[in-house]
Amino acid sequence: MKNEVKKTYGWSRTTSDTSNIFYVESKEDIIKVIKLAKTESKKISNIGSGKSYGDNFLNDEVSISFAKFNKVLNYDKKNKKVTVEPGVTIDDLLRITVNDGLMFPVLPGIRYASVGGCLSNNVHGKNVYKNNYFGNHVESLKVILSNESVLFCDRSKNSDLFFSIISGLGLIGFVYEITLNLEEIETYFVDQYQIKNKRINNLIHDYTKFINECDFSLALIDNGSIFRKKQGYKLTYSNYSEKVSKLNLDQHELKPFMFGIIPKIFVPFILKLPFMKYLMYQFMGFWSSGKVGYFKEMTVSLSDYNFQFDHTIPKYNYFFKKGLIEYHCMIPKALFEEFYKKTIIKMKKEKLKTVFTAIKYYQNSGENFLLSFEPEEDSLGLSIHFDNKHKKKIDTFIDQLNELILEYNGKVYFAKNININNDQLQMMYPGYSKFVDMKKKYDSEDLLTSNLYKRIFLEKSKFYGQY
Ligand SMILES: Cc1cc2nc3c(=O)[nH]c(=O)nc-3n(C[C@H](O)[C@H](O)[C@H](O)COP(=O)(O)OP(=O)(O)OC[C@H]3O[C@@H](n4cnc5c(N)ncnc54)[C@H](O)[C@@H]3O)c2cc1C
Repeated sequence: MKNEVKKTYGWSRTTSDTSNIFYVESKEDIIKVIKLAKTESKKISNIGSGKSYGDNFLNDEVSISFAKFNKVLNYDKKNKKVTVEPGVTIDDLLRITVNDGLMFPVLPGIRYASVGGCLSNNVHGKNVYKNNYFGNHVESLKVILSNESVLFCDRSKNSDLFFSIISGLGLIGFVYEITLNLEEIETYFVDQYQIKNKRINNLIHDYTKFINECDFSLALIDNGSIFRKKQGYKLTYSNYSEKVSKLNLDQHELKPFMFGIIPKIFVPFILKLPFMKYLMYQFMGFWSSGKVGYFKEMTVSLSDYNFQFDHTIPKYNYFFKKGLIEYHCMIPKALFEEFYKKTIIKMKKEKLKTVFTAIKYYQNSGENFLLSFEPEEDSLGLSIHFDNKHKKKIDTFIDQLNELILEYNGKVYFAKNININNDQLQMMYPGYSKFVDMKKKYDSEDLLTSNLYKRIFLEKSKFYGQY
């Protein structure tokens, strides 16, 4: 097994740390690292594909990377199931199953996220209102605990482990085998429709009208361009296509051009040009409001629809010297409009603008995942991306935003950047105290860690504010 001492960044490049990373390829390798860490009195963080925005997988001691632990162990087409090692990615799953008319039903916006990473954050896709969360489609797991024992868990056997490890932020055990349920699809293409309009109340009205009828949806709002005062939004919703019934990944490969015109090899040089960041704000704002790239109706592959960033502006996290912050929160639907308006007023007061603002519809999964980013009732989620240049100003704004989120019974998502304290964590996530009990039960030595854990779960750590 290879290992290296390496500085690693969260995807949004706002925070980093240097750890001794072991690239495990088997469960025996995991046990070796556990033994070694214990001998050296060090703690371990788990790394999937490293696509979480913040410090979920970062550590300054020892880390296990699952990137090379990535074999498909069993693919049962008849029963629509696949058993994989944790390093298998969403992209791998699509390549294996789509041609057979099968698909894993939850696709986050990044294709390279791993199965182990997705279940630990219990991620969701643009179809969360219809298909719930990653964990809803996990049948069973095999886990190595920090005492080196091996456990199988599902909804009936060791169910407390199952419900704490899914959404458990990599803090309960080392997942080494996962069985997933696949869904049948008749086409990998979607017919997508767009509506553009001006005000937030129109957007919520339109969104409410279409949410029950569509398979996937996302709304974007211009809060960053020179026309942002007049605002504007674009709601895109889509259904599995009735026009194109192809089961292939024709439009899946990443394009060689950024924005369709700039060869990707020039991207690193172009990013350094001083006006590039300004152009980015304008482009994203215009795109979000439908001023550019707008169409009423279009059929595209699900990859084109779902992985919009990979396809249009790959590596957009590198545009901003000090990284970018995505603050993703969720608010009950009935209170959302008021919450949104107050958020925007506060943002304007602080003279902040966002690269990108997105809204998505959520509903409860009906399962008891302990730290899951899911509501008790219908909710709308707000994803706001800030350039990190004025970090102090953003810190102050986020402090105010956290209070507002709590006032409106909302919560902040762990997979993106999150900066809350332990009291706020307990108020936002009712499963917190049960989760702490599960951590004590299954990781009694507190071997599994991350900078996120030290920062939010353990009080007064040196990582406070480094989100
Ligand atoms: C451009 C972009 C778009 C995104 N869109 C969405 C979206 O639409 N919806 C959404 O929900 N999220 C989204 N995300 C977030 C992303 O899907 C999650 O952060 C996901 O968990 C990343 O997976 P990963 O493999 O990179 O895991 P990592 O980020 O490496 O790790 C995530 C967590 O999993 C733990 N972990 C990893 N492997 C194991 C294992 N084998 N055993 C135990 N613990 C483990 C880690 O310790 C960590 O706590 C997006 C991210 C990006 C960059």
